[in-house]
Amino acid sequence: MLRTKIKIIDAIRNGKNSCSKKEVSLNSGVSWGAMYKIVDTLLAEGTIFTRAEKPVGRGRPNIPLCLNAETAFFAGIDIGSENTRIVFTDLNLLVRHSESLKTTAYTNETAFWKWVDTVYESALKKSGLKKNTVNSIGIAISGTVDSENGLVFSAGNLGIPRESNLKVKQFSDACGRPACIYTTQVAAALAEYHFGSEAGAGNLATVGLGFGIGSGAVSNHVLLISHPKHPIGYIGHILIPNNDHKCVCGWTGCLEAYSGGRNLVATAAPLFKNAAAITSARTLDDLAQAADKTARKILNKAASYNAVGVANMIQLYSPEAVIFSGGQAKQDGYLYQQTLKEIAKLLPGGRDVCRFSITRLGQFQSAIGAARLAYENFF
Ligand SMILES: [Zn+2]
Repeated sequence: MLRTKIKIIDAIRNGKNSCSKKEVSLNSGVSWGAMYKIVDTLLAEGTIFTRAEKPVGRGRPNIPLCLNAETAFFAGIDIGSENTRIVFTDLNLLVRHSESLKTTAYTNETAFWKWVDTVYESALKKSGLKKNTVNSIGIAISGTVDSENGLVFSAGNLGIPRESNLKVKQFSDACGRPACIYTTQVAAALAEYHFGSEAGAGNLATVGLGFGIGSGAVSNHVLLISHPKHPIGYIGHILIPNNDHKCVCGWTGCLEAYSGGRNLVATAAPLFKNAAAITSARTLDDLAQAADKTARKILNKAASYNAVGVANMIQLYSPEAVIFSGGQAKQDGYLYQQTLKEIAKLLPGGRDVCRFSITRLGQFQSAIGAARLAYENFF
């Protein structure tokens, strides 16, 4: 549940600097008394201000509440198997600085958090923001996360073994700012809910087609938060009958053990004369587009596996829309289009009203969601 203060600031932001106290109370669902108290505090500390309006006609003029976007900044860091992205947003949650870099190979916990801190400090410097204006930091990681206790249980595609329980507190202590951590797809789903092309839809699913295959969901306007003991949207580890590929999670037959980008390359490379040319899932996709039979055969199978995962997400959560992201999700890509075809084959009547698209938030989707999570948790 969002805290009352966040509900009020959201209402002021959504009011685009023209909402009166009355409208803020109505739009936030916060009672008049509670809203009044919080608005007074926010005015006193300068987080919001009132815009003077010329009176129109009789009666008291409407006094709009405005956000002072520069009073606080939030960082979002998305640690993926291959790339790490970082963004800084202001209180309007608009991105002020963003950058992307290669993820460093995992060795041990101390080195890992030290590296995250280096990424943060270096980006902070480039952003030009003052250190003490950053309120908090949200981290998204491609792994299994206990967000409540700030622990990374595992991240197979990053080489972080099961039960590692890396403590985000180590990073928070190093940078001197509060920090929270979630899975990539939890952050992605929240980003889509607030900032994506389907923003505001109460039921959404996100699907990441990358090194791993992941999924997140917003159900009845509530972000579903995955936990190691009750995972949400772990479609990458749905077991596919007759799939004999071994997964980083230790099981055999997981969807991503075949469809994950790195695994596709490993399966495909030996089948090509010039194996070294098959460097990524994208290369394979380009070959399939050019009607290469071997590439098509491999990607057709990957698409049919992906479809099982996505169709099951649709069966579980009945989303109005499914939004794809990741290196394997390309609008005119062979795998993406083939995956949509396979999903259509699997979906029973009535479920096929779901809309499919690729995120408009681009590669910073989860980093933006992570910044929003920092704001919700700590501001
Ligand atoms: Zn698995």
